[in-house]
Amino acid sequence: MFDVNWRTDTALALAKQMYESRNFGAAPILADALQDAGCDAEDILNHLRDPSATHVRGCWALDLVLGKE
Ligand SMILES: [Zn+2]
Repeated sequence: MFDVNWRTDTALALAKQMYESRNFGAAPILADALQDAGCDAEDILNHLRDPSATHVRGCWALDLVLGKE
């Protein structure tokens, strides 16, 4: 579940930037932004912070932040 309150301007901007540039280096920063907004979904946070995770355009975690469900 994704709480719309986690979709802050900062989180949304980071997610859009990663989606459009296909550069997912900011994923841990996005995790921080989500957590700052109160996100406690460990599956999302762990995925974004996992240095070995392979992100793709359309990554489920990004889709959640972008609201592309
Ligand atoms: Zn991913």
